[in-house]
Amino acid sequence: MKNVIEANINSYEDINWPNKNTKQNYSFIRSKNNNTVKIPVTIINGHLDGPTFSIMSGMHAGEYSGMIAAQKIISNISPSNLHGKLIIIPVISVEAFYQRSMQISPIDQKEVHFIQPGNPLGTYSELLIDTIFQIVKKSDYLIDMHSGELVQSLHPWVPVPLLGSNDMKDKAKLLARGYRVDFVEYREDLASIPPLCISLADEGIVNIWVEIGKNGIPTSSDVSRHYDGIISALKSVGCLAGKAEKPKQKIIKGRRYQINAKHSGFWHPDIREGQIVEKGQILGKITDFFGNLIEEYKAPEKSLVLYYWTSPAIDIERKPHGYDWHSGLISLLELNEIK
Ligand SMILES: [Zn+2]
Repeated sequence: MKNVIEANINSYEDINWPNKNTKQNYSFIRSKNNNTVKIPVTIINGHLDGPTFSIMSGMHAGEYSGMIAAQKIISNISPSNLHGKLIIIPVISVEAFYQRSMQISPIDQKEVHFIQPGNPLGTYSELLIDTIFQIVKKSDYLIDMHSGELVQSLHPWVPVPLLGSNDMKDKAKLLARGYRVDFVEYREDLASIPPLCISLADEGIVNIWVEIGKNGIPTSSDVSRHYDGIISALKSVGCLAGKAEKPKQKIIKGRRYQINAKHSGFWHPDIREGQIVEKGQILGKITDFFGNLIEEYKAPEKSLVLYYWTSPAIDIERKPHGYDWHSGLISLLELNEIK
C-alpha cells in the first residue's frame, strides 16, 4: 500500500480504476495554464458490487481531525469487507496544508468551498476544485469532513443540504443520521449552501458536509466522531455490513448568520461554542491594543453559537475577493425550530 501511482488526468474518464478487491493509492496530477494540482487519492474497490462513496477532507488546511479520520478509513477498510467503491481524498488543499494557510488558498486567495467546478482554465483553486469534481463525479454519495479552523472554536454539528429529489433528500438525512453530534442542521435555502454542494447534487451525488473539531487540535474524540460517522454512513447505504448507529440528535433549521467586526482591533469573545445566547446578550468586544473599548457586539436574536474566532487579530481591511473571513467574530444559527 505504500506504492503510489502517479497519474496525469484531465477528466474522470482518464482514471484507471483499480481491479476488484484492491486498494490503491494515487497522486492525480493535472496541469492547465501554468497551474498544476497534485491530489492524494486512495481508491478501494470492494470484492462485491455496490455504491460508489467519496470521502474527502482537508479542503481547509487547518482542519486536521477529518484528515486523520480519512487516514484511519484508508488503513482500516479492507476491500474484502467492502461492497462498491470508496474514493478517499485525505487532503484536498495540499499547498494550503504545507503552508498552514487558514481557510483561504495561499496561491490565489480564494475560498475553495465557494468555488463551482467547471472552470479548469481559471485560477489555481478553480483548477483544484474542478479536478476534485472530476475525481468524484461518478459517486453516489459524498461526505466532506470539516472542522473549526486553527483559530476557530466550533461545536460539532452536521449541515445537511436538502437538494434534488425527495429520494436524494432522504438519503442525505440518512448519511447524517449516524453522527454523534448534538445538532443536525437541515438547509434548504440555496444561498446558505456552498456552490460545490449544489454542483455535486446537480450531478446526482447525495452529499453532506460535517463540522467536528476545532483549533487545529485533532483530539481522539473528534477524530472518532468523524470516523464512526463515516462508518455508520457506509453501513446505512450498504457499502459495509452491519447496523448503523442511531445516536440522539436534535434537528435544527434556521437562518445562519455571522457577526462581523466593524472595526479592526483586538477581539475579546464573551461566549463559548455550543452556547445558546439570548437576544441582546453581549457576545464580546473589540478593543484597541491598549484594551480601550472600540465596540461591543450583541446577539440580534436568540441563537446557537456554532463557532467563534478565537484569535484576537481582526483586520476588516483584509477581504480577498470580497470574502470577510478576517473580520468574522461569531457564526450563529437563529433558533426558530428545534425538536
Ligand atoms: Zn472547513
